[in-house]
Formats: sequence, structure tokens, C-alpha cells
Amino acid sequence: CGIVGYIGTREAYPIIIEGLKRLEYRGYDSAGIALFDGTDLKVSKTKGKVSDLEERCEKEITKHGNIGIGHTRWATHGVPNDVNSHPHLSNSGDLVIIHNGIIENYGSLKQELISRGYTFKSDTDTEVLINLIEDVKKQENVKLGKAVQIALNQVVGAYAIAVFDKNKPEEIVIARLGSPLAVGVGENEFFIASDASPFLEYTKNAIYLEDEEMAIIRFHKGIKIRKIKDDSIVPAYVQELQM
Ligand code: GLU
Repeated sequence: CGIVGYIGTREAYPIIIEGLKRLEYRGYDSAGIALFDGTDLKVSKTKGKVSDLEERCEKEITKHGNIGIGHTRWATHGVPNDVNSHPHLSNSGDLVIIHNGIIENYGSLKQELISRGYTFKSDTDTEVLINLIEDVKKQENVKLGKAVQIALNQVVGAYAIAVFDKNKPEEIVIARLGSPLAVGVGENEFFIASDASPFLEYTKNAIYLEDEEMAIIRFHKGIKIRKIKDDSIVPAYVQELQM
């Protein structure tokens, strides 16, 4: 299971696909990608290998866009199939998420969301989380970063996540508890990945998120790291990777 994301000025697609291939060693059963192409959010996902995803993308999506997230899934909730593959969209279709890990209390959260009118396409815990984030964002009328934070404080489990809003395609929100997450820092661009291998050829500057931390990554504006629990600011410690 692996996570790759990109925000900047390059085409995100090749960076994400090549990055997912570098993370194949972690093991997976499905792969998927979400790209914002300047107008629309494009999602393509499939059971199988990253090479199967590439074939599908050829037919299904325009592979353009400067912001995107990609995922390799190791199924825990819901069988490996196309629908259960990540990324997952919120009910409005605005928010998109990739997730490694397990949301243990997804059952009760799902019941609560269903009672509020939410519907679910997949059997995953992850689709519950993205709709919880959407619900919080609407109910509390807060920005995406805050909504992710409030939602994660209702969650029991383990995760590395990356989320963005197609109406705000200059920002990616990430968070980690129990699954690794690294951020590659370039000039006016950021790379997100489960380990540094997907972005080593582009930058040697990396920030490793610690457990219980989240980051709001804004193209041009930089990265803000916070504690998920108490909202305190964590200074960004940029390491120079030796390779
Ligand atoms: N629990 C999620 C799922 O089953 C994520 C699995 C993973 O870590 O890839 O879809």
C-alpha cells in the first residue's frame, strides 16, 4: 500500500504513476489516481497493477493536471475490486481522498452519516472518512484543513491520508497516524509519498511527518504542520536526503 501526491507546475500524472511503481514493493491489490485538469476532477482506478491503471487511464482520462494523488491499495475493508479502489470521492464529488490504514470505528460513523442522508458506493472505511470530512466542513462551515482535523479527532484507527478539494486545486491536506508519510519540498512544488523514493529524482529536501501530525500544503505558500489533537504548530524540519 502506498501514497503519492503532487502539487506544483509540472504534469502530475507521470510523477504519480512512476512514484506508485516505486512503491510497489510495499504490496498491493489495486491502484488509482485523481487529477484536477484545470476544469474537472478526473478519477481512474482499478483492481490489479499500476500497469493496469496506466492502460485504463489511456482510455478514461485526460492525463493533464498540476495537482493529483495516487494510491496503491492493500484491502482491509471491502474486497479488492474497482469500486473499492482509491481514490474515493465525497457525496458532493468535490472532495477526494487516498488512505492507507484502517478506520476502526467506521461502522458507527457510517450509520450516523447514512442517517444524515449520505450514500456509499464502496464497502471501504475510507469512503466513510471522506464523507465525514465533507459533513464536518459543511456543518461547521470551516476550511478543508480544519474539517480534516475535526474529523480525524472523531476517528479511531491508523492512517496516512491525502485529501484535496476540486474547488481549491492549490492545496493538499495530509495527515498521519501509524502509516508513514514524507513530503518532498521543491521550488514552488511539493511531492507527497509513503517514502522518499518517488521524489528523490526531483528534490533531496524532505519533511517526514510524525504520528499525530497533519500538514496543509499550498502551492506557492508553503507547508504548515500542526498537531491533529491540539492544533499546536509544529516547525517544519527539512532534512537533506543523502543519496
Ligand atoms: N482500509 C482501506 C481500504 O481497505 C485502506 C487500505 C490500505 O491501506 O491500502 O480500502
